[in-house]
Amino acid sequence: MRQTFIGLMVTVAVAATMAAQGPARTKVMLLDGESGGPYHKWQLTTPLIKKALEETGKFDVTVVTAPAVTGVLTDFRPDFAAFKAVVFNYDAPDERWPEPLRAAFEQYVSAGGGVVIVHAADNAFSGWKAWNDMIGVGGWRGRTVASGPYWYYKDDKLVKDTADGPGASHGRRTPYAIKTRAADHPVMKGLPATWMHQGDELYAHLRGPGTNMTVLATAFADPANNGTDRDEPILMASTFGKGRTFHTVLGHDIVGMSCVGFVVTLQRATEWVATGAVTQKVPTSFPTATTVSYRADLAALDPNYARGLNSLDAK
Ligand SMILES: [Zn+2]
Repeated sequence: MRQTFIGLMVTVAVAATMAAQGPARTKVMLLDGESGGPYHKWQLTTPLIKKALEETGKFDVTVVTAPAVTGVLTDFRPDFAAFKAVVFNYDAPDERWPEPLRAAFEQYVSAGGGVVIVHAADNAFSGWKAWNDMIGVGGWRGRTVASGPYWYYKDDKLVKDTADGPGASHGRRTPYAIKTRAADHPVMKGLPATWMHQGDELYAHLRGPGTNMTVLATAFADPANNGTDRDEPILMASTFGKGRTFHTVLGHDIVGMSCVGFVVTLQRATEWVATGAVTQKVPTSFPTATTVSYRADLAALDPNYARGLNSLDAK
């Protein structure tokens, strides 16, 4: 009897400990430390991304900040293998990552590591073949027709345009409609067919190999706002070896990132690249085909917004 009682006590104690800890969280690295210009304020947006991921209860996020250098990152060797996914809030030129660092990252992804590319991270490393295979398409930093075809949708069909032309563009930051193109993909399942995104840049003329790439969503780039008159890729999923990658062009700044659509697709995609499945429900606050929906608590991470200024005017 006494033994049974002690056994029961131990069982209760173990159960209580497990409930307090919850299920094990997936370890995610959030990489920042450099961007192509002062308008990409990674110091402001990293806390937003960290908060958005950790509030799901599914991720344990470690911020890794690459040292600020103008040449080669010789002493930077993050332990990629300690994480199930690496989220890039980071944009650097080709010369920044030496071959051993590139090789370590390629090995990590091809062995099954997950990658999330946020907005200007698709500007990075225009001449690194494996990186461009991972992101599918990218823009700026000297990208030309030699970087790969220009991918877009026309008449609801994916076009791979090999003609010469620009290697990136965007118009003014305005709200725009996002159209789902792969409704059965785990990241997209349950999302509306069309939803309005907060004021943000709409990247266009992106070029790249598109290796193993699935375009999950597009947005129409309005010619009245320097647009291409085409539906441009906005959310992409690719594979690299055994690794999964997700690429969102959304998220120029806090305003764009405070969109519930940005947050939810980031949360779901991070789970997908890390585990291959998505268990998160789509919140009822998700934007609709006619209305934007944003998180005031996240928008308040921008000092301009907190002071009542519209950061659309403050590049
Ligand atoms: Zn931007």
